[in-house]
Amino acid sequence: MRDVLLVLIVVTSFAIQSNAQPDLSYYLPEGITFHPNIPTPKSVIGHEVGEWHVTHDRLVNYMYAIDKASDRVSLEVTGHTHEGRPLLLLTITSPKNHERIEEIRQQHLSLSDPTKGGSVDTKSMPAVFYIGFSIHGNEASGVNAGLLAAYYFAAAQGPEIENYLNNTVILFDPSYNPDGMQRFSGWVNSRKSIVTSTDPNDTEHNEAWPGGRFNHYWFDLNRDWLVAQHPESSARVRTFQRWRPNVLTDHHEMGTNSSFFFQPGVPARMHPLTPAKNLELTKQIGAYHAKALDEIGSFYFTQEGYDDFYYGKGSTFPDVQGAIGILFEQASSRGHAQESINGIVTFPFTIRNQFVTALSSLKAINAMREDLLNYQRQFYRDALAEAGKDATKAYVFGASQDAMRAFHLAEVMTRQAIDVYKPSANLTLNGKTYAANSSYVVPLNQRQYKLIKSMFEKRTSFKDSLFYDISSWTLPLAFGVDYEELRTMPSLGEKISDLRMPVGKRVGDKSEYAYVFGSSGYYAPRAIYRLLSQGVRIKVASDPFYHGDGTRFERGTILIPVGGQEKQMDQIEFIINEIVNKDGIDVYAFKTGLDYRGVSLGSSSFIPIKKPVIAILVGDGVSATDAGEIWHLLDTRFGIPVTLLPINVLEKNPISRYTTIIMPATSGSMGISESTKEKLRSWTQQGGTIIGFEHALTWLNNAGLGKFEAKKEDDKTDGKPRPYGDIDEYTGAQETSGAIFEAQVDLTNPLLYGYSTQKLPFFKSNNLFMEKGKGAYSNPIVYTATPLLSGYISKENYALAKQSSVAGVSVLGQGRVIGFTDNLCFRAFWLGTNKILMNAIYYGPSINSAAAR
Ligand SMILES: [Zn+2]
Repeated sequence: MRDVLLVLIVVTSFAIQSNAQPDLSYYLPEGITFHPNIPTPKSVIGHEVGEWHVTHDRLVNYMYAIDKASDRVSLEVTGHTHEGRPLLLLTITSPKNHERIEEIRQQHLSLSDPTKGGSVDTKSMPAVFYIGFSIHGNEASGVNAGLLAAYYFAAAQGPEIENYLNNTVILFDPSYNPDGMQRFSGWVNSRKSIVTSTDPNDTEHNEAWPGGRFNHYWFDLNRDWLVAQHPESSARVRTFQRWRPNVLTDHHEMGTNSSFFFQPGVPARMHPLTPAKNLELTKQIGAYHAKALDEIGSFYFTQEGYDDFYYGKGSTFPDVQGAIGILFEQASSRGHAQESINGIVTFPFTIRNQFVTALSSLKAINAMREDLLNYQRQFYRDALAEAGKDATKAYVFGASQDAMRAFHLAEVMTRQAIDVYKPSANLTLNGKTYAANSSYVVPLNQRQYKLIKSMFEKRTSFKDSLFYDISSWTLPLAFGVDYEELRTMPSLGEKISDLRMPVGKRVGDKSEYAYVFGSSGYYAPRAIYRLLSQGVRIKVASDPFYHGDGTRFERGTILIPVGGQEKQMDQIEFIINEIVNKDGIDVYAFKTGLDYRGVSLGSSSFIPIKKPVIAILVGDGVSATDAGEIWHLLDTRFGIPVTLLPINVLEKNPISRYTTIIMPATSGSMGISESTKEKLRSWTQQGGTIIGFEHALTWLNNAGLGKFEAKKEDDKTDGKPRPYGDIDEYTGAQETSGAIFEAQVDLTNPLLYGYSTQKLPFFKSNNLFMEKGKGAYSNPIVYTATPLLSGYISKENYALAKQSSVAGVSVLGQGRVIGFTDNLCFRAFWLGTNKILMNAIYYGPSINSAAAR
């Protein structure tokens, strides 16, 4: 039996009493009674909110408990994280609204559909409020405040809350990043003393690499809302598109010495596709947060930092969809209490600020309900009117050599409730053919017009030169597909309702001689590993050859001789069927090795591929997100086992078992000792391959392991005197936060096997510009003379980028050291350049030494 609990509230000062035990009265507003049948957080999780960091399992228990106890709450599991934790969604509204929730949802959706929303009366409609916490798992005040918010929404009594719940449907997402949250709560709880240590040097306040910010594969989920490559994001986006909320809030933390931030961000850095009215409404909402924080004596700032430019962030994603996204940032105690320039920041203090702004959000939404609903309706009307005036009527995209990447881009679009069609017939535009069966048409005359524009646009002029995140993300360039803006609407085929992954085909009967398949397909690296992992001997063509009917096979084509294998023919057949059906690749049966138009199958132009054994360096000094992107690619996309090799283990253990060591982007020193450097040198000399990215090249260059000379950066101040007050602005403008550049590539180089166009887009988010190698064959990838395709770069950096080298190979004894200045696997959506990394893994060891830098 649960004790009857009536909590009467007194606001107490808690901010500087680091050892005081918190209780509910510290958090909850005065004068409110709470329904005794609704369990308090402590009665379920076993400790008071803020006393410990709640773990995800206990958080889940609490959410189930209030779902069971309250007729205001309905819980569903929307998906599971990589580590199998449930992703919860609580729909919270009045019991009366729950009875007709589907009707409310349908009516609400009509606001974002100009063909339906005209007659709907917004006076009596509830607003939809999506509230979620701690997408960065180590920004824990949000998720812990979520316990209080859930309790308040479910248990608070009186006309005020009843009125709010009559007028609002709350979509409550208690933890945006369960895996990261669990990692962080484990860290701080297991280091908590009875007498709290507030010393910033304490281990409690200094998480080990990679920290709890990221998800399982060390991705920043707050950059994944647009492309949704992770299960956490795709579940969230499904909820978002199912409901299309009016306001979405996103509770974060920032540095311990800061105060509290609520949006708007810097107005000049708002994305131009976001209407000005969005800023106005955000400011109005902000006034409610200010009042709530004033009342409890908390300091804050707004409009001075953060921005709303990249639509992949949670607080910006809604802005291009008729909603208002709100970012909150609380100075972090990063643990249970920590010293700061503002005194001791306690965990309960941070939780309380997050809780009161969750309540002020609800209050603002209620006061502004009609304005928000009307704004959403007007947003979609305006979008459709703009679409009508747009000279572009549709986009078509496809990849003639690889249906898979086009499929994955279509997948991103349909997930965001964009209507995508097949063309009714092949389209030929600017010399490229878009095949009816593997291309997609996106008409602009649809409700998601603005979101579509944001995905396809290229932009090179900006109001401001500072970006909180990337400045460009043109999706067809990222996915490496051909695309075209169409000035007239083509004839549309079927609308895509059930997107199917493409499958390949077998050409020719069973053969006892040989099979071949091209490497242009996205999953060709997976197909290669299927064969290698089963011990099947395969070779790669370094020259073109032909098939009886005249089909040309390019460099990079894979040859599977049938004879002389340890595997039986039926076992090889089984793998080939998997390659066709799961990897979407066409496999050709050959009955003869002779064709005078090209090399024969027995030629030495076919080079054996060895099974790689790969380690990725991880640990302090290595960028966790860059390491995570490579891990995610190899593990989830290509099914290739990898060792995540900590630098301290590299220091002490032998490495002869590996063929390939990948050094992801580093932040300078990785603490690699002289003796380990020599270990790497002799391992490479004996035939190992090192693949380095971004600033790892500086380390490799300085270590004498590879020749990757950076272009010298000139004095970027031009020696001119400038006002002191401009320092932040000027230095910020020199950052290349993420833009898209075009490079000229040598398609005959093994690093480019599987590609068919001589110019390729690359993503760059650093200021590392490499000198070209001296040799005739040593610059397989070089930025063009005018490489900027989309995004921001300062004019000083742009001068360095032009004609700089993106990739190079150094020879060290029998081994190779291959360097790339840029990220080839950015955030799991830059599919276009993934294969270059895979080529470095498979073919790096056999790159001709004449191509060295
Ligand atoms: Zn954050």
